[in-house]
Amino acid sequence: MDRSILSVQDVTKTYDTGTQAVRGISFAVAEGEIFGILGPNGAGKTTTLEMIETLTPITSGSITLAGADVAKEPAKVKQLIGVQPQAPGFQDKTTLSEVLELFAAAYGMRTDPLESLRSVGLAEKADSFVEDLSGGQRQRLSIAAALVHKPKVFFMDEPTTGLDPQARRNLWELVREVRAQGITVVLTTHYMDEARYLCDRIAIMDTGKIVALDTPVNLIRALLSRGFQKEQRVEQADLEDVFIDLTGKELRD
Ligand code: ADP
Repeated sequence: MDRSILSVQDVTKTYDTGTQAVRGISFAVAEGEIFGILGPNGAGKTTTLEMIETLTPITSGSITLAGADVAKEPAKVKQLIGVQPQAPGFQDKTTLSEVLELFAAAYGMRTDPLESLRSVGLAEKADSFVEDLSGGQRQRLSIAAALVHKPKVFFMDEPTTGLDPQARRNLWELVREVRAQGITVVLTTHYMDEARYLCDRIAIMDTGKIVALDTPVNLIRALLSRGFQKEQRVEQADLEDVFIDLTGKELRD
């Protein structure tokens, strides 16, 4: 792929324990894509992300991100990527604006906190303390913080696990807005509706290998062309539609 911003070539990972978490994977992500990595627990998704993010060494193979070699130029790669933290920990008694200024300072940058907060729907909370935020709000703050240095690629590991339907949909829109800012997004998820809605392409991993990689539509077509059939049940609405209809799309916190 010519416009690829991330290229993973024949990568393997064997932990010190002897576990072969990743067994030779290759893929490329195009600039501006939302790319999903799916697979059952233990498939090697997190290990793959951690190698790209320079958090764990690559056993063999190579990874290039925006022209930088992940193994040889980790400091450069760290400047080029943003990582959404799993459990965002912020100091209490700090305002949201201060949090973003601190994050920017860590990258030797200045930031316009209000602009960042506006982009995640938290502008009116600029002077609130982190401890007064709800779980969903904290998560949006963590995304603003992870983007404060204007990375080229943003990584999200199971971003909507544990969120209520309103917060989940809100986060989907946020992911699309992040992409609209020109940032490439790589995410993992266990939710197939989420992958279908958000991802341009999906890699499905199992036992350390990529077993399929394509657009959601092509993956479904390929399954059907293999003769897959299931009982047809046409429902005009599902339980999530009921929930949203009764409780509204408005974000609660
Ligand atoms: P996934 O994110 O798809 O659930 P992981 O990348 O977390 O998969 O794990 C892949 C395999 O590597 C699993 O067998 C897991 O137990 C193992 N593993 C993950 N992290 C470590 C580690 N730090 N040390 C040893 N084994 C690990």
